[in-house]
Amino acid sequence: MSVLQPLMSALNAGTVEVLDLTTPLSTETPILSLPQPFANTVGLSLSEVSNFNDSGPAWAWNDITIGEHAGTHLDAPTHWISGKDGKSVDQIEPARLVGPAVVIDKTAEAAANPDFVLEPSHFEEWQAEHGDLPDNCWVLFRTGWSARGGDTAAFINADDAGPHTPGVSPAAAQWLATNASVSGFGVETVGIDAGQAATFEPMFPAHFYLLGADKYGLTSLRDLDRLPATGATIVVAPLPIVDGTGSPARAYALVENA
Ligand code: MN
Repeated sequence: MSVLQPLMSALNAGTVEVLDLTTPLSTETPILSLPQPFANTVGLSLSEVSNFNDSGPAWAWNDITIGEHAGTHLDAPTHWISGKDGKSVDQIEPARLVGPAVVIDKTAEAAANPDFVLEPSHFEEWQAEHGDLPDNCWVLFRTGWSARGGDTAAFINADDAGPHTPGVSPAAAQWLATNASVSGFGVETVGIDAGQAATFEPMFPAHFYLLGADKYGLTSLRDLDRLPATGATIVVAPLPIVDGTGSPARAYALVENA
């Protein structure tokens, strides 16, 4: 019996909806900014090749320049020292990029404390309510942070002590990295680690533990408030940049309407 045919019927009927979780990609899209002495990546820039003119009378096209880790993007294992012998973005099996999405919502906590971090107890509480994590899942951390996405200063939320954005504790990062059901971890913020994660031990624990365990990161997600805690399917589509440490990505969710 076909599985896909009923899905196509449901998509046509609107009982299954396709949501776009991706931040629109423009020259204004916020990107990570590391302090001195570290080098920084670049966001999107466009340069015109032709625009229905002498350079191309019937066609318009642009060249783009963009960092691998700009906008909504996937972190591949080779992005981090703990995963440097692991997979580059082109080597990730497509089956790992399509799976159940589970949403852990700490919007209220992040509103009260921008440095809020998930702990293992939050995952355990989630499982007590919703059951064990499904195989090949993507854990999506809903914080409401995407509401700041139109304002780079509010989105990065930095002061003299660095950025203040929610994330995961080292123990929570380890919890995710050692859970065989987890394929990836997605966030609304500019990176998969908390704003203050440079001060954690190890520093940037989400990167360190997840990418070191062949699990993938996904950033700058939007519309997580439109997803149920369980039951949605995520489709993550990075570019297959050969030897790339990550890639701007499109992320869709298939959601059943009640
Ligand atoms: Mn990244």
